[in-house]
Amino acid sequence: MLLAGKTVLITGASRGIGRGTAIECARHGADLALNWFQDREGIEETLAAVRALGRRAIEVEGDVARRESGERFIDAAAKAFGGVDVFVNNAGICPFHAFLDTPPEVFERTMAVNLHGAYYMTQAAARRMREQGRGGSLIAISSISALVGGGMQAHYTPTKAGVHSLMQSCAIALGPHGIRCNSVMPGTIATDINKEDLADPEKRSYMEKRIPLGRLGEPRDVAGCVVFLASDLARYVTGAAVLVDGGLFVNLQ
Ligand code: NAP
Repeated sequence: MLLAGKTVLITGASRGIGRGTAIECARHGADLALNWFQDREGIEETLAAVRALGRRAIEVEGDVARRESGERFIDAAAKAFGGVDVFVNNAGICPFHAFLDTPPEVFERTMAVNLHGAYYMTQAAARRMREQGRGGSLIAISSISALVGGGMQAHYTPTKAGVHSLMQSCAIALGPHGIRCNSVMPGTIATDINKEDLADPEKRSYMEKRIPLGRLGEPRDVAGCVVFLASDLARYVTGAAVLVDGGLFVNLQ
């Protein structure tokens, strides 16, 4: 029960890593405020899973790319649970596209959701934590793509490097308020975001062979690391990035 008594907010919790993280946080005793955008059925499933673990949960619809979504989300969580202890910036999109002809709308939307959204959400959460005066933990779901490139991801990888950089700067800006800021860098985690890409059995098997632990990741693999960073076990960890990739990054050959 590493998160007993804490309120955890997660963006993009209707599916994938966001849902896995919500469930793991609930297992560790947290109450959850969960943002989603389009997948109503998905968020209902996440809520049901959290409540089945005996924890309280609310959902807050909102496009993270819209600046006002941050304030709205934080206000709703604070109203329901009395405050905000942990904020997980997870919502993201990765529309694969070749660089040379990526339409500007694809680039701009990816930046707006993954980076601008994370910035305004983080700012809204940090303001509330500073007001509360009891510190907190901000966690960005960055990516292994913050460290390496992808030929079909030139509009995506800079957003993931960006959120990691955001956490580094925030660690400095918010350290005096006792607010820790870290990022998690997942490798290849099987979710909807890469379902199409990994539908090709050859590609999937190639990826599995590249991973020293011999398998793709699951949302709960990432969630465990988030729980650690959210908890008091990580009380002296700030400005850090943790790769959760089964060893993929270090496997040059
Ligand atoms: P996913 O299964 O496609 O889930 C994406 C989540 O983000 C959904 O809950 C979706 O909500 C939400 N979302 C998308 N656009 C949004 C918006 N504008 N406003 C609010 N929520 C929005 O993807 P995932 O793999 O779990 O990805 C989660 C995060 O992990 C992303 O930031 C991604 O970059 C990162 N990541 C993933 C991997 C991987 O291999 N899977 C690796 C590294 C990093 P709705 O469906 O309700 O719209």
